[in-house]
Amino acid sequence: MRVPSHLWEQLWPEVRRPGEHEPVVFGLVSHGVTPRGTIILVRELVMPPPTAFVRAAGHGAKWTGAYNIALLNETLERGLGIVIFHYHPGRADVQFSGDDEASARQLLPAFQVVAPGRPHGSIVLGESSATGLILLPNSSTLTGEISLRFFGDGNVVTFPRSKAKPEDLLLHRRQPLVAAAVSKSRLKDATIAVVGLSGGGTQVATQLAALGVGEIIGIDAQRVTGDNLVATDAFGWADILLSRRKATALRSKIWWINRRVRFTPVNALVPERPAIEALKRADAVIGCVNNLKSRADLQEIAWRYCIPYIDIGLGLYPLDPDDELSEIAAISGNVFAAVPGGPCLWCTGFLTQEKLEKEAGNANRSYLRTTLSQNNRRPAAYVSSFNGVLAALAVSDALQLLLGYAPSLSVRKQYDALSGTIAEIAVQKNPACPKCSDVLAAGEPLWQ
Ligand SMILES: [Zn+2]
Ligand SMILES: [Zn+2]
Repeated sequence: MRVPSHLWEQLWPEVRRPGEHEPVVFGLVSHGVTPRGTIILVRELVMPPPTAFVRAAGHGAKWTGAYNIALLNETLERGLGIVIFHYHPGRADVQFSGDDEASARQLLPAFQVVAPGRPHGSIVLGESSATGLILLPNSSTLTGEISLRFFGDGNVVTFPRSKAKPEDLLLHRRQPLVAAAVSKSRLKDATIAVVGLSGGGTQVATQLAALGVGEIIGIDAQRVTGDNLVATDAFGWADILLSRRKATALRSKIWWINRRVRFTPVNALVPERPAIEALKRADAVIGCVNNLKSRADLQEIAWRYCIPYIDIGLGLYPLDPDDELSEIAAISGNVFAAVPGGPCLWCTGFLTQEKLEKEAGNANRSYLRTTLSQNNRRPAAYVSSFNGVLAALAVSDALQLLLGYAPSLSVRKQYDALSGTIAEIAVQKNPACPKCSDVLAAGEPLWQ
């Protein structure tokens, strides 16, 4: 189950609020299916008003039938499922009570009758754990195998927390970057998808391999060309001689760096089916693509399934775009980590409908000379080191997401390659952002 950061910020204090009755919060949820299991995505929270509750005889809260019906109707109309959250204080390893279980066994099948296409559940949260019962679509069996992921303070937190020894946890809290038990297992358990295996993406992948990330999914449909050699150190002359696909060539390279890392090559383009299926099961996506259309697609997929999306891009801007031999006015790069519930590429104005239309209508984009050179037979630009700077910043953001070694990520980093400096630009969520309201945690569309 995944909870975007802005909803977690409301959910966590609300379930722990002291009051007359045990506070209950309803999550309206969508879902997505991956080979590893079902991802339940919390799209919205409903805090029931005090009038909805009736005094309960046993443990916990009960609410009125009228409120139940109103909530169910609203949920059904919107094609969403219902997950009931509450909290048990004082225990690290939280347990479902007998009352909790009895009420879940009664309520969840009733929810399913009304909204059969979505999952429903009842979750109890503890200090650093979560448990409960879930009823998946097309199933009559309740399952208790749950992990809950939320995004707070720029890192990914999973309940229940790992069962590490107390001394290992203490070491990790104090020195998260030391390659010891906790940080090693967090990296080993992670799957990171890298999209676009040219100058930036290849250097991202090799650095992730060195860190010991468990699985790297490399997505690119192209073959290695001569232009790639000055853009990255990850390919060699033999890759060109053998006309190897980028994803395949990178797999060999990664194996030499760290043979414990699983590298999964995907020879496809986003948004082709194999690429989307691979992205859905990633814990983070790093986009190293050279056009806005692909960025828009990646941002949408990441938001649908609540996956952190780190975007890098390098632009080389001539003084006069119409002059083949124009001098360079600027070489500028961007790194931005979008964490579900925080600002997205649309919030920040990095993506706009206008920019996308302009790109679609204008084939001669002022992006990397390496890309242009393939069409125009111009020499490629020496940008391996510039790509390397951006790759290193993106990998650091990924490390921050997984290990939490620094404060929050809500800045965009702008790299000026001519001066060799990086500026931090504050980013803010746009409350009117259409993508954040329509797409975030939307999961897979339901066809009914
Ligand atoms: Zn309870
Ligand atoms: Zn947004």
